[in-house]
Amino acid sequence: MALTDNYLRKTSLKKNELNLVFKYNVSKVKHFTIKKNGLTKHIYDIQNTALPNTINITQFKAQGVKAFRIGQYSKEVIRVVIESINSMEGIFKIKGRKLTLMLPSSLDKKSKKIKKTKTKQYDYNPARKYQTIFLDAGHGGRDIGASSTFVREKDLTLTMTLKLKNILKKMGYRVLLTRDRDKFMNLKQRTDYVYRRKGSIFISIHANAAPRKKTKGVRYEGMEVFYLSLKNSKRIRNKRAIYRGRKVYSKSAYRKMVSSWKFSESKKLANLVHYNILSHVGRQYKIYDKGIKRKDFWVLLATKIPSILVETGYLTNKNEVKKLKNSDYQTRLMEGIARGINSYYGL
Ligand SMILES: [Zn+2]
Repeated sequence: MALTDNYLRKTSLKKNELNLVFKYNVSKVKHFTIKKNGLTKHIYDIQNTALPNTINITQFKAQGVKAFRIGQYSKEVIRVVIESINSMEGIFKIKGRKLTLMLPSSLDKKSKKIKKTKTKQYDYNPARKYQTIFLDAGHGGRDIGASSTFVREKDLTLTMTLKLKNILKKMGYRVLLTRDRDKFMNLKQRTDYVYRRKGSIFISIHANAAPRKKTKGVRYEGMEVFYLSLKNSKRIRNKRAIYRGRKVYSKSAYRKMVSSWKFSESKKLANLVHYNILSHVGRQYKIYDKGIKRKDFWVLLATKIPSILVETGYLTNKNEVKKLKNSDYQTRLMEGIARGINSYYGL
Protein backbone atom coordinates (compact mmCIF):
# COMPACT_ATOMS: atom_id res chain seq x y z
CA MET A 1 0.00 0.00 0.00
CA ALA A 2 1.14 3.49 -0.78
CA LEU A 3 2.16 5.75 2.10
CA THR A 4 1.05 8.97 0.46
CA ASP A 5 -2.35 10.11 -0.73
CA ASN A 6 -0.96 12.24 -3.55
CA TYR A 7 -2.70 10.09 -6.14
CA LEU A 8 -2.24 10.31 -9.88
CA ARG A 9 -5.55 11.65 -11.11
CA LYS A 10 -5.22 11.93 -14.87
CA THR A 11 -2.88 11.13 -17.72
CA SER A 12 -2.94 12.46 -21.25
CA LEU A 13 -0.79 12.36 -24.34
CA LYS A 14 -0.67 15.47 -26.43
CA LYS A 15 1.67 17.07 -28.91
CA ASN A 16 4.71 15.06 -27.96
CA GLU A 17 4.13 15.47 -24.27
CA LEU A 18 3.01 12.99 -21.67
CA ASN A 19 1.09 14.82 -18.96
CA LEU A 20 0.44 13.45 -15.50
CA VAL A 21 -1.85 15.34 -13.14
CA PHE A 22 -1.79 14.60 -9.42
CA LYS A 23 -4.08 15.37 -6.50
CA TYR A 24 -1.51 17.71 -4.94
CA ASN A 25 1.63 19.49 -6.14
CA VAL A 26 4.48 17.37 -7.40
CA SER A 27 7.56 17.92 -5.28
CA LYS A 28 10.38 16.04 -6.90
CA VAL A 29 11.19 13.78 -9.86
CA LYS A 30 14.40 11.80 -10.27
CA HIS A 31 15.28 11.07 -13.89
CA PHE A 32 17.89 8.67 -15.24
CA THR A 33 18.48 6.58 -18.35
CA ILE A 34 19.52 3.06 -19.16
CA LYS A 35 20.85 2.27 -22.66
CA LYS A 36 20.47 -1.21 -24.03
CA ASN A 37 20.37 -2.68 -27.57
CA GLY A 38 19.91 0.68 -29.28
CA LEU A 39 17.04 1.57 -26.97
CA THR A 40 17.11 4.24 -24.31
CA LYS A 41 14.97 3.71 -21.27
CA HIS A 42 14.06 6.98 -19.60
CA ILE A 43 13.10 6.38 -16.01
CA TYR A 44 11.25 8.98 -13.95
CA ASP A 45 10.80 8.32 -10.24
CA ILE A 46 8.07 10.62 -9.04
CA GLN A 47 8.54 11.14 -5.31
CA ASN A 48 5.69 11.06 -2.78
CA THR A 49 3.03 9.91 -5.22
CA ALA A 50 0.67 6.97 -5.44
CA LEU A 51 -0.85 5.12 -8.37
CA PRO A 52 -4.53 4.15 -8.30
CA ASN A 53 -5.39 0.82 -9.93
CA THR A 54 -7.49 2.50 -12.57
CA ILE A 55 -4.69 4.32 -14.36
CA ASN A 56 -2.43 2.89 -17.01
CA ILE A 57 -0.40 4.39 -19.83
CA THR A 58 0.67 1.29 -21.75
CA GLN A 59 -1.98 2.01 -24.39
CA PHE A 60 -0.34 5.33 -25.35
CA LYS A 61 1.43 5.54 -28.68
CA ALA A 62 3.89 8.23 -29.73
CA GLN A 63 6.41 8.69 -32.48
CA GLY A 64 9.85 7.42 -31.50
CA VAL A 65 8.56 5.65 -28.41
CA LYS A 66 8.50 1.87 -28.23
CA ALA A 67 6.63 1.59 -24.96
CA PHE A 68 5.23 3.46 -21.98
CA ARG A 69 5.14 1.81 -18.58
CA ILE A 70 3.99 2.94 -15.17
CA GLY A 71 3.99 1.31 -11.74
CA GLN A 72 4.16 1.87 -8.00
CA TYR A 73 7.91 1.43 -7.61
CA SER A 74 8.04 1.79 -3.84
CA LYS A 75 5.61 2.84 -1.13
CA GLU A 76 5.81 6.46 -2.14
CA VAL A 77 7.33 6.49 -5.60
CA ILE A 78 5.58 6.08 -8.93
CA ARG A 79 7.95 5.02 -11.69
CA VAL A 80 7.29 5.93 -15.31
CA VAL A 81 9.44 4.28 -17.97
CA ILE A 82 9.58 5.53 -21.54
CA GLU A 83 11.47 3.31 -23.96
CA SER A 84 12.61 5.57 -26.76
CA ILE A 85 13.92 4.68 -30.21
CA ASN A 86 14.62 8.24 -31.32
CA SER A 87 16.91 10.50 -29.35
CA MET A 88 15.20 12.04 -26.37
CA GLU A 89 16.64 14.29 -23.70
CA GLY A 90 14.38 13.32 -20.85
CA ILE A 91 13.31 16.89 -20.19
CA PHE A 92 10.45 17.22 -17.72
CA LYS A 93 8.59 20.15 -16.25
CA ILE A 94 6.76 20.39 -12.95
CA LYS A 95 4.02 22.97 -12.71
CA GLY A 96 2.05 22.58 -9.54
CA ARG A 97 0.04 19.37 -9.76
CA LYS A 98 1.08 18.73 -13.35
CA LEU A 99 4.15 16.84 -14.50
CA THR A 100 5.01 17.00 -18.20
CA LEU A 101 7.45 14.56 -19.78
CA MET A 102 8.80 15.65 -23.15
CA LEU A 103 8.77 12.93 -25.80
CA PRO A 104 11.26 12.34 -28.66
CA SER A 105 9.75 13.78 -31.82
CA SER A 106 9.27 17.23 -30.39
CA LEU A 107 12.73 17.23 -28.97
CA ASP A 108 14.41 16.07 -32.16
CA LYS A 109 13.89 19.45 -33.74
CA LYS A 110 14.63 21.30 -30.53
CA SER A 111 17.79 19.39 -29.73
CA LYS A 112 19.15 20.14 -33.21
CA LYS A 113 18.43 23.79 -32.54
CA ILE A 114 20.17 23.56 -29.18
CA LYS A 115 23.29 22.16 -30.85
CA LYS A 116 23.28 24.86 -33.49
CA THR A 117 23.02 27.80 -31.13
CA LYS A 118 24.67 26.09 -28.15
CA THR A 119 22.10 27.61 -25.87
CA LYS A 120 19.88 26.34 -23.11
CA GLN A 121 16.13 26.51 -22.77
CA TYR A 122 14.65 29.00 -20.35
CA ASP A 123 11.17 29.36 -18.97
CA TYR A 124 9.28 31.89 -21.04
CA ASN A 125 6.73 34.20 -19.44
CA PRO A 126 4.77 36.55 -21.76
CA ALA A 127 4.23 39.05 -18.92
CA ARG A 128 7.92 39.89 -19.08
CA LYS A 129 7.62 41.60 -22.46
CA TYR A 130 6.47 44.77 -20.68
CA GLN A 131 9.85 45.13 -18.97
CA THR A 132 12.74 46.62 -20.91
CA ILE A 133 16.15 45.77 -19.52
CA PHE A 134 19.11 47.98 -20.45
CA LEU A 135 22.40 46.13 -20.45
CA ASP A 136 25.72 47.92 -20.50
CA ALA A 137 28.87 46.00 -21.39
CA GLY A 138 31.61 47.94 -19.62
CA HIS A 139 34.39 49.62 -21.66
CA GLY A 140 34.97 48.89 -25.37
CA GLY A 141 37.05 50.05 -28.33
CA ARG A 142 40.16 51.96 -27.22
CA ASP A 143 38.99 51.66 -23.62
CA ILE A 144 40.19 48.18 -22.72
CA GLY A 145 39.28 48.36 -19.04
CA ALA A 146 41.04 45.98 -16.70
CA SER A 147 43.22 43.30 -18.20
CA SER A 148 45.43 40.36 -17.41
CA THR A 149 47.17 37.81 -19.55
CA PHE A 150 44.93 36.90 -22.50
CA VAL A 151 41.81 38.57 -21.09
CA ARG A 152 40.66 42.12 -21.57
CA GLU A 153 37.74 43.44 -19.57
CA LYS A 154 36.07 44.99 -22.65
CA ASP A 155 35.92 41.57 -24.38
CA LEU A 156 34.75 39.69 -21.32
CA THR A 157 31.99 42.19 -20.51
CA LEU A 158 30.74 42.07 -24.10
CA THR A 159 30.67 38.25 -24.17
CA MET A 160 28.82 38.09 -20.87
CA THR A 161 26.40 40.88 -21.77
CA LEU A 162 25.47 39.15 -25.04
CA LYS A 163 24.88 35.95 -23.07
CA LEU A 164 22.66 37.77 -20.61
CA LYS A 165 20.76 39.38 -23.46
CA ASN A 166 20.01 35.95 -24.97
CA ILE A 167 18.90 34.51 -21.65
CA LEU A 168 16.62 37.45 -20.88
CA LYS A 169 15.11 37.45 -24.38
CA LYS A 170 14.35 33.74 -24.11
CA MET A 171 12.68 34.42 -20.79
CA GLY A 172 10.50 37.01 -22.50
CA TYR A 173 12.07 40.40 -21.64
CA ARG A 174 12.77 43.27 -24.00
CA VAL A 175 16.48 43.96 -23.97
CA LEU A 176 18.44 47.02 -25.15
CA LEU A 177 22.22 47.24 -25.22
CA THR A 178 24.41 50.33 -24.97
CA ARG A 179 26.89 48.45 -27.16
CA ASP A 180 26.71 45.09 -28.95
CA ARG A 181 30.20 45.09 -30.43
CA ASP A 182 33.72 46.26 -29.70
CA LYS A 183 33.08 49.98 -29.84
CA PHE A 184 34.26 52.91 -27.75
CA MET A 185 31.55 54.76 -25.83
CA ASN A 186 32.15 57.26 -23.10
CA LEU A 187 30.08 57.05 -19.95
CA LYS A 188 27.81 59.93 -20.88
CA GLN A 189 27.00 58.39 -24.26
CA ARG A 190 25.92 55.28 -22.38
CA THR A 191 23.66 57.06 -19.92
CA ASP A 192 22.30 59.35 -22.66
CA TYR A 193 21.27 56.24 -24.57
CA VAL A 194 19.40 54.98 -21.53
CA TYR A 195 18.03 58.37 -20.49
CA ARG A 196 16.43 59.01 -23.86
CA ARG A 197 14.58 55.71 -24.00
CA LYS A 198 11.82 54.16 -22.00
CA GLY A 199 13.00 51.27 -19.90
CA SER A 200 12.65 49.49 -16.59
CA ILE A 201 16.09 48.80 -15.15
CA PHE A 202 19.75 49.32 -16.04
CA ILE A 203 22.53 46.78 -15.44
CA SER A 204 26.18 47.46 -16.14
CA ILE A 205 28.57 44.52 -16.38
CA HIS A 206 32.24 44.82 -15.42
CA ALA A 207 35.24 42.83 -14.30
CA ASN A 208 37.75 44.01 -11.77
CA ALA A 209 41.50 44.31 -11.32
CA ALA A 210 43.56 44.72 -8.18
CA PRO A 211 45.20 48.14 -7.94
CA ARG A 212 48.99 48.43 -8.32
CA LYS A 213 49.26 49.53 -4.69
CA LYS A 214 47.37 46.86 -2.83
CA THR A 215 45.81 47.63 0.51
CA LYS A 216 46.80 45.20 3.22
CA GLY A 217 43.99 42.94 4.36
CA VAL A 218 41.89 43.46 1.22
CA ARG A 219 41.11 40.37 -0.78
CA TYR A 220 41.20 41.09 -4.51
CA GLU A 221 38.91 38.29 -5.52
CA GLY A 222 35.16 37.86 -5.89
CA MET A 223 31.92 39.32 -7.11
CA GLU A 224 30.27 42.51 -5.90
CA VAL A 225 27.16 44.48 -6.81
CA PHE A 226 26.95 48.27 -6.64
CA TYR A 227 24.14 50.78 -6.46
CA LEU A 228 24.25 54.54 -6.17
CA SER A 229 25.54 56.47 -3.20
CA LEU A 230 25.87 60.24 -3.11
CA LYS A 231 27.89 60.28 0.06
CA ASN A 232 31.02 62.41 -0.45
CA SER A 233 30.26 62.47 -4.16
CA LYS A 234 32.18 65.00 -6.22
CA ARG A 235 29.85 64.44 -9.12
CA ILE A 236 27.21 66.62 -7.50
CA ARG A 237 27.15 70.40 -7.50
CA ASN A 238 24.10 72.66 -7.23
CA LYS A 239 21.94 69.54 -7.47
CA ARG A 240 23.27 68.84 -10.94
CA ALA A 241 25.27 65.86 -12.13
CA ILE A 242 28.87 66.74 -13.01
CA TYR A 243 30.53 64.87 -15.84
CA ARG A 244 34.19 65.58 -16.55
CA GLY A 245 33.98 68.88 -14.74
CA ARG A 246 30.89 70.02 -16.63
CA LYS A 247 27.40 70.29 -15.27
CA VAL A 248 25.09 68.22 -17.38
CA TYR A 249 21.35 67.55 -17.24
CA SER A 250 18.79 69.93 -15.83
CA LYS A 251 17.76 70.16 -12.19
CA SER A 252 14.52 68.34 -12.93
CA ALA A 253 16.43 65.55 -14.65
CA TYR A 254 18.72 65.39 -11.65
CA ARG A 255 15.75 65.04 -9.31
CA LYS A 256 14.67 61.92 -11.20
CA MET A 257 18.22 60.56 -11.05
CA VAL A 258 18.33 60.76 -7.28
CA SER A 259 14.69 60.09 -6.45
CA SER A 260 14.08 58.04 -3.33
CA TRP A 261 12.12 55.62 -5.51
CA LYS A 262 15.20 54.97 -7.63
CA PHE A 263 17.35 54.45 -4.52
CA SER A 264 15.04 51.93 -2.90
CA GLU A 265 14.38 50.05 -6.15
CA SER A 266 18.10 49.96 -6.99
CA LYS A 267 18.80 48.60 -3.54
CA LYS A 268 16.15 45.91 -3.94
CA LEU A 269 17.48 44.97 -7.38
CA ALA A 270 21.09 44.90 -6.13
CA ASN A 271 20.10 42.62 -3.24
CA LEU A 272 18.21 40.16 -5.43
CA VAL A 273 20.83 40.02 -8.18
CA HIS A 274 23.62 39.62 -5.63
CA TYR A 275 21.77 36.83 -3.80
CA ASN A 276 20.85 34.97 -6.99
CA ILE A 277 24.36 35.12 -8.45
CA LEU A 278 25.81 33.66 -5.25
CA SER A 279 23.25 30.89 -4.94
CA HIS A 280 23.13 29.95 -8.63
CA VAL A 281 26.87 30.08 -9.35
CA GLY A 282 27.60 28.61 -5.92
CA ARG A 283 25.80 25.41 -6.85
CA GLN A 284 28.54 24.62 -9.38
CA TYR A 285 31.57 26.72 -8.54
CA LYS A 286 33.29 28.41 -5.64
CA ILE A 287 32.56 32.11 -5.71
CA TYR A 288 33.83 34.66 -3.22
CA ASP A 289 31.33 37.24 -2.07
CA LYS A 290 32.56 40.85 -1.87
CA GLY A 291 29.07 41.97 -1.00
CA ILE A 292 26.73 44.80 -1.96
CA LYS A 293 28.35 48.21 -2.13
CA ARG A 294 27.45 51.79 -2.84
CA LYS A 295 29.34 54.25 -4.99
CA ASP A 296 28.70 57.32 -7.14
CA PHE A 297 29.59 55.67 -10.46
CA TRP A 298 28.41 57.87 -13.32
CA VAL A 299 26.34 55.11 -14.91
CA LEU A 300 24.49 54.61 -11.64
CA LEU A 301 23.84 58.32 -11.18
CA ALA A 302 22.83 59.51 -14.63
CA THR A 303 19.87 57.22 -15.20
CA LYS A 304 16.36 57.77 -13.90
CA ILE A 305 15.56 54.07 -13.55
CA PRO A 306 16.79 51.51 -10.96
CA SER A 307 20.43 50.88 -11.79
CA ILE A 308 23.14 48.50 -10.63
CA LEU A 309 26.68 47.62 -11.60
CA VAL A 310 27.96 44.06 -11.30
CA GLU A 311 31.67 43.47 -10.83
CA THR A 312 31.82 39.83 -11.92
CA GLY A 313 35.28 39.06 -10.55
CA TYR A 314 38.99 39.90 -10.61
CA LEU A 315 41.00 39.38 -13.78
CA THR A 316 44.13 39.77 -11.68
CA ASN A 317 43.28 36.79 -9.50
CA LYS A 318 44.70 33.59 -11.02
CA ASN A 319 41.90 31.29 -9.90
CA GLU A 320 39.13 33.70 -10.68
CA VAL A 321 40.32 34.66 -14.17
CA LYS A 322 40.37 30.97 -15.07
CA LYS A 323 36.70 30.73 -14.14
CA LEU A 324 35.77 34.02 -15.78
CA LYS A 325 37.21 32.74 -19.07
CA ASN A 326 35.11 29.59 -18.79
CA SER A 327 31.96 29.86 -20.90
CA ASP A 328 29.91 27.75 -18.49
CA TYR A 329 30.92 29.94 -15.56
CA GLN A 330 29.97 33.04 -17.54
CA THR A 331 26.59 31.51 -18.35
CA ARG A 332 26.00 30.68 -14.68
CA LEU A 333 26.84 34.24 -13.64
CA MET A 334 24.44 35.66 -16.21
CA GLU A 335 21.72 33.16 -15.27
CA GLY A 336 22.15 34.32 -11.70
CA ILE A 337 21.55 37.92 -12.79
CA ALA A 338 18.52 36.86 -14.84
CA ARG A 339 17.09 35.00 -11.85
CA GLY A 340 17.60 38.10 -9.76
CA ILE A 341 15.65 40.11 -12.33
CA ASN A 342 12.85 37.54 -12.29
CA SER A 343 12.52 37.78 -8.55
CA TYR A 344 12.71 41.58 -8.68
CA TYR A 345 9.62 41.56 -10.89
CA GLY A 346 8.05 38.52 -9.24
CA LEU A 347 7.82 36.94 -12.70
ZN1 LIG B 1 35.19 48.13 -15.62
